[in-house]
Amino acid sequence: MSEKSHTAADLLRELFPESHREIFGERSSEKAPTLGLYPVADGRLALVHGDQLAEFTPLPPKGNAALHCDLCHHTRSRSEAHIYRVVVAARRTRYLTLCSPTEGCQQRAGQQNLEALADRIFPIETIHAE
Ligand SMILES: [Zn+2]
Repeated sequence: MSEKSHTAADLLRELFPESHREIFGERSSEKAPTLGLYPVADGRLALVHGDQLAEFTPLPPKGNAALHCDLCHHTRSRSEAHIYRVVVAARRTRYLTLCSPTEGCQQRAGQQNLEALADRIFPIETIHAE
């Protein structure tokens, strides 16, 4: 580790190396997408807003209750949505319900709802495992 200060992009690569690679590929994150949800490995979603990134981990389905999508605000059946866990700080976890697949959901939701969702998640407190 060098002594130079880390940029947000460096931090992202450290926190979510796999998602970072899947979303940004080999190119530099200077041209990062500004806002969106991106499917990554193992059914997870990555929420990207500028140079911030959060990983949504799906929880195993439980029960048959209808779900209310936190992004497009449609009511979905249990098979049309997933509940995701997002760790936003060392001891703080948020749960979000989102339709799957996410593409149509984001189209229904539009930019404004995506921004509202990002506001609920970011900033993520950096967790250092020491
Ligand atoms: Zn939705």
